Amino acid sequence: MSLRIGIDLGGTKIEGVVLDGSREAARLRVDTPREDYDATLAAIGRLVVDLEKLVKDGSRIPDPGSGPRATIGIGIPGTISASTGLVKNANSTWLIGRPLQQDLEHVLHRPTRIANDANCFAMSEAADGAAAGAKVVFGVIAGTGVGGGIVVEGRSVGGANGIAGEWGHNPLPWPDVEDAGRLCYCGKRGCIETFLSGPGMTADHKRSTGIRLLPPEIVEAARAGDGAAEQTLRRYERRFARALASIVNVLDPDVIVLGGGMSNLTRLYTSVPRLWGDFIFAAQRRTQEPNEPNEPIEPKTRLLPAVHGATSGVRGAAWLWPEKPPIA
Ligand SMILES: [Zn+2]
Repeated sequence: MSLRIGIDLGGTKIEGVVLDGSREAARLRVDTPREDYDATLAAIGRLVVDLEKLVKDGSRIPDPGSGPRATIGIGIPGTISASTGLVKNANSTWLIGRPLQQDLEHVLHRPTRIANDANCFAMSEAADGAAAGAKVVFGVIAGTGVGGGIVVEGRSVGGANGIAGEWGHNPLPWPDVEDAGRLCYCGKRGCIETFLSGPGMTADHKRSTGIRLLPPEIVEAARAGDGAAEQTLRRYERRFARALASIVNVLDPDVIVLGGGMSNLTRLYTSVPRLWGDFIFAAQRRTQEPNEPNEPIEPKTRLLPAVHGATSGVRGAAWLWPEKPPIA
């Protein structure tokens, strides 16, 4: 088994890990040089050198020039444009418009794979997490935003535009009267993210009660018997079920893994699969008799919490070099 380095390039921290198989052999973390592109490249270069030094004692890494070294995968909060090779959609704005992959390969002296953080999350969980062994995996990060990534047979799917899995800015499907489309920061109305993100739940609760609570406070209030908080959670679950049913209808994944702050809402793992059957095509066996109710068929897709939690970013970046290369 070869050594894999994974780097998670965040807005405030750059974290790096060395995986030896599934085992974590070393880990380091440095501050991100904010607003400074050249310093960011240099910091990643130093981090890789330091990580390799840490594991070199185990003599798994040969001296430079004397054979294959650790592979390097990098997770970024954005995507690399397929047409220009430049970073786009990044909230770390000093990366935008830069040829990050080309520049990193120059600094690191080897081919480097880059994917957005949701794809890294999906890779991590598909490689040796909640979805280990599953053929088709959809990874969802629901926190301050909502993102997604797709892994098929152990390979990350980037897509022709580098946006495969980005469902957070699709509209919420099968809307009810309570789902009036609100303006999203992306400029569209009624995006899934405006409902399923943490701020989305807070805003929804405030609309119905006038009270501003964070999601953990809403969960606590519901547990303590607050009926309005319970209704907010039920609306959230129904929306989550419909949003995921639309994914099942297109991708039909074996496993959907949830990560991010909202994945701590443990009741989702029972309530959502109970609700999504109404929207998953052919989840009901149609009877020929008009008065006979349709017979529900249990969808085979499983909804599971992430295993690796906060370490998924770095682990998934390392797994961008699996046994098989990523798909486009
Ligand atoms: Zn949007």
